[in-house]
Amino acid sequence: MRTADVVIIGGGIVGASVAYHMTATGCKNVLVIEREASPGKGSTGKSMGGVRAQFATPVNVQMSLYSIPFYAKFDEQLGYPCGYRPQGYLFCATSIHHMEYLRKNHQTQVQLGLKDACLVTDDEIRGKFPQLRADDIVGGAFCSSDGFVDPYSAMTGFMSWACDRGAELWKNTAVTGIRRDTQGVNGVETSKGVVRTRTVVNCAGPWAASIAQMAGVELPVQPLRRMLVPTEPFDQFPRSAPMIIDMTNGFHFRPEALGFLLAWNDPDETPGFKTNFEPSFIEKILTRAADRVPIFENLAVNPKRAWAGLYEMTPDHHPILGPVPQVSGFFLANGFSGHGVMHAPATGKILSDLILRGTTDLIDSSLLSLSRFAEGRLIEETAVL
Ligand SMILES: Cc1cc2nc3c(=O)[nH]c(=O)nc-3n(C[C@H](O)[C@H](O)[C@H](O)COP(=O)(O)OP(=O)(O)OC[C@H]3O[C@@H](n4cnc5c(N)ncnc54)[C@H](O)[C@@H]3O)c2cc1C
Repeated sequence: MRTADVVIIGGGIVGASVAYHMTATGCKNVLVIEREASPGKGSTGKSMGGVRAQFATPVNVQMSLYSIPFYAKFDEQLGYPCGYRPQGYLFCATSIHHMEYLRKNHQTQVQLGLKDACLVTDDEIRGKFPQLRADDIVGGAFCSSDGFVDPYSAMTGFMSWACDRGAELWKNTAVTGIRRDTQGVNGVETSKGVVRTRTVVNCAGPWAASIAQMAGVELPVQPLRRMLVPTEPFDQFPRSAPMIIDMTNGFHFRPEALGFLLAWNDPDETPGFKTNFEPSFIEKILTRAADRVPIFENLAVNPKRAWAGLYEMTPDHHPILGPVPQVSGFFLANGFSGHGVMHAPATGKILSDLILRGTTDLIDSSLLSLSRFAEGRLIEETAVL
């Protein structure tokens, strides 16, 4: 029977980062189990790849302060590319209320040590991007080290680095059960047989609640569809543009290949495992695109290239990280609520710290524990895109 020091369930970017960080500390017997024929078929392969430190809550900023510099050095340190492009995130405020919100967030970010973020005036935004309709823009916030990564490459880099040093990835293998004895977890049942282990990490993305259920744990993580629309080549807006966010309605876009990638979170979307792209979304998003960038009226899109994926939402839009006290040896790395790519490096570090040392210096991990829901310690993040 196969044994492993640590079994990681799910071969997306989070599982890959946990495998990397565990292996980097010298742990040799790490096994990642992925039910698909190749990793990245879950949310990771559907992501927009945005990375930012411009958050409202200190814990999210702290996770980005580890993760973004990590991505900046990824290629050099791991020997694999992650496609980090520090083109920034520009939040465009269209009300005094937005501006107060950005100012407060900026103070939090600076206090925590973020050096690259600044507030910008409406004229600066107009000067830099005259293509934007700016009659209602009152100012904004920009951070130059925010930007984008290629989520698939980053996941592959983490996983390859770990496998080069002794970790193993089982593909085409579904986890079907989690075994327990009086001491806690003692194995994982899979479509390829049982693996004996005392440590299991749930990295199953939008499917995390069903894995938790196998260990008798109720996990408040729900799938929520998000759709992205890539445009055909378009050269009337700078390719060097940051992620630009219209705070009026949450419409945002960034350069991608020779065109742009358009995103907007439809408030009418309801939870569920819906991964089909809804064609009527194209008109909704193009209306918002042309409203903020009038020349986007000329954008061409091919609906066949648009796609949908799943966010893994928690009630307070923060991840759930760390051990489950009632089930010794069962760890959670779930519920990233749309931020799992940008926070994967920090998550891998936090999980490996908690598994190996029982504590981490990166964040106050009690803030993100599962017990916060039962204890009413929710920490609402409002800067969710
Ligand atoms: C449209 C869209 C845009 C996004 N944009 C961004 C963004 O700009 N920035 C950002 O940071 N985040 C973004 N996200 C969120 C981000 O993609 C996710 O938070 C992240 O990919 C989660 O990674 P993961 O490894 O936890 O999950 P996943 O990538 O979903 O991996 C989980 C894996 O677990 C496997 N699995 C599940 N059940 C089992 C089982 N029983 N046995 C074995 N394997 C199993 C699945 O097959 C899957 O491969 C976006 C998401 C979407 C959908």
